[in-house]
Amino acid sequence: MPLAETEKKLKKLNAIAVKVNGDLKDLSSLKDLGADVGIEPVTPDSEEGRAIYRHSASHVMAHAVKELFPDAKLAIGPATEEGFYYDFDLEKPLSPEDMIRIEAKMKEIIRGGHPFRRTVMKRDDAAALFRKAAEDYKVELLNEIPDNAVSLYEESGFVDLCRGPHVPSTGMIGAFKLLSVAGAYWRGNEKNKMLQRIYGTAFSREKDLKEYLDFLEEVKKRDHRKLGKDLDLFSIQDDAGPGLIFWHPKGGVIRREIEDWLRDELTARGYDLVFTPHAMRLHLWETSGHTNFYRENMFGAMEVENDKYQLKPMNCPGHILIYKSRARSYRELPMRLAELGTVYRYERSGVMHGLLRVRGFTQDDAHIFCMPDQLEAEVQACVEFAHLVLKTFGFDQYQVELSARDPGNPEHYAGTVDEWSLAEGALMNTLKRMEIPFKYMPGEAVFYGPKIDVKLVDAIGRPWQLTTVQFDFNLPRRFGLEYVGSDGHLHTPVMVHRALFGSIERFFGVLIEHYTGAFPVWLAPVQAVVLPISDKHAPYAREVQEELRRANVRVQLDDRNEKLNARIRDAQLQKVPFMLVVGDREAQNRTVSVRRRDTGDAGTRPLAEFIDWTRQLIDTRAAKW
Ligand SMILES: [Zn+2]
Ligand SMILES: [Zn+2]
Repeated sequence: MPLAETEKKLKKLNAIAVKVNGDLKDLSSLKDLGADVGIEPVTPDSEEGRAIYRHSASHVMAHAVKELFPDAKLAIGPATEEGFYYDFDLEKPLSPEDMIRIEAKMKEIIRGGHPFRRTVMKRDDAAALFRKAAEDYKVELLNEIPDNAVSLYEESGFVDLCRGPHVPSTGMIGAFKLLSVAGAYWRGNEKNKMLQRIYGTAFSREKDLKEYLDFLEEVKKRDHRKLGKDLDLFSIQDDAGPGLIFWHPKGGVIRREIEDWLRDELTARGYDLVFTPHAMRLHLWETSGHTNFYRENMFGAMEVENDKYQLKPMNCPGHILIYKSRARSYRELPMRLAELGTVYRYERSGVMHGLLRVRGFTQDDAHIFCMPDQLEAEVQACVEFAHLVLKTFGFDQYQVELSARDPGNPEHYAGTVDEWSLAEGALMNTLKRMEIPFKYMPGEAVFYGPKIDVKLVDAIGRPWQLTTVQFDFNLPRRFGLEYVGSDGHLHTPVMVHRALFGSIERFFGVLIEHYTGAFPVWLAPVQAVVLPISDKHAPYAREVQEELRRANVRVQLDDRNEKLNARIRDAQLQKVPFMLVVGDREAQNRTVSVRRRDTGDAGTRPLAEFIDWTRQLIDTRAAKW
């Protein structure tokens, strides 16, 4: 195809860049090509296009910051999955007003429609240029580039070191928004200077930007840290340390409901519940290999009577010791040992995040020891169990990933080629038989075995990694696990680690955000509030409370000396599913006026009927009602 034709085509497609033989290039690079040699368009809607578009916006942001704060030193400004950022070394912290000024300046630069121009120069010349401009960070970056030549990009006088490509002109950046400022160490290293990172995002269409900003609002509204405080569910105490969770009474109610459900299901599915110690000899963790490949995630060992003990980061070795406590026969397999096991893992204090990233948490952990021919049935049972978790807790959508070995590097893995084929086959066959779509990820397995991960998708479309079904060819060998087979010989059992919720803390965080704190009736810490219209209705209100209590409904009486509307509003803010208003008529007829937190007035019902209805919602664990 002649080049002129190609250019016409690109224009029609609204291309912002091109791929030439697979390499991303500026649109302007076409003029150096004699003919169309495998040119593909890159549009703003593609993943690559989006990144180019957003990264170009980060240039414009850096330009705006330099105009407003000439002493600012530039660090780096990449595109991210959600938008872009740029790190600046600035004397003063940026204020919200500064952000507004930067945005206004960016709009001006965008309106100017300045072309992005690429120049290639010798690395040393570029270093001299940036040194003269006192851009120390750029000089540091340049000194580490091995190539002799580097590319610079310029638009209306603003020059940045960059590989490119960019959109042809600043005028093509349409819808953008600066979102926040945060501290960020130069190169992510705590020993370096703290810079200021401005986050922003950009879209090719105004409508998409608006949708994204609405999504961010939704995320903010659902933040489990805020809801956890407002609804008095949990706290993290500075006196105790970061990443350690205190479950308050209301959070405790929800945890008990989750755990009760789980224990019943485990029992019904042939699991045995066990309990293992929180601290065990360090020696055990040397045998398991954790001191080698997991050390940086472990708390330091503690000394007791000249012996070292380790706070457990995992439950596996404990369950293995139970398995090993006596000789096992094939008749005992599969053996499914389950524990709500609390573990402690070291995370840097900077990465802690509410309930989602913590240092101490409780796994709904289980280890299945079985014979090879029992594998598929066990994997299927785990996947079915995971399904039930999703359904019970109100999630309709999920994604499944299968992590397999890298077939090119068999020496990287524990276990034999046959074992891996068997295990990967069991995982894949099960998913196929169950008609569950999954993403196959070769090379993503950890060294000791393949796994299935299930990510649930929450009410606003965010995926969360929870369930893992993980094979292990390493630990049974390290601990010398055996069973006597039907042939009378000793064999090594297959071991599977599996967790459904993953961590109860994390799952709780996801639940809070999924429901925006408005839990279904069976999980709600307070299921109904009785509200007497005035003092003289208090005796009947107490009777209502008593009857609900007897029916095992979690009920509160709010007879404070406040206006009825104020008390309704408080119950509403606490997201209590039912408000029961009682006055003369209700007392006379033994009824309650029901108000739902979601749809308001639900009419007057006989008290007995309301109790039956609520009981049924609780007993069926109804996700919706
Ligand atoms: Zn760039
Ligand atoms: Zn395990």
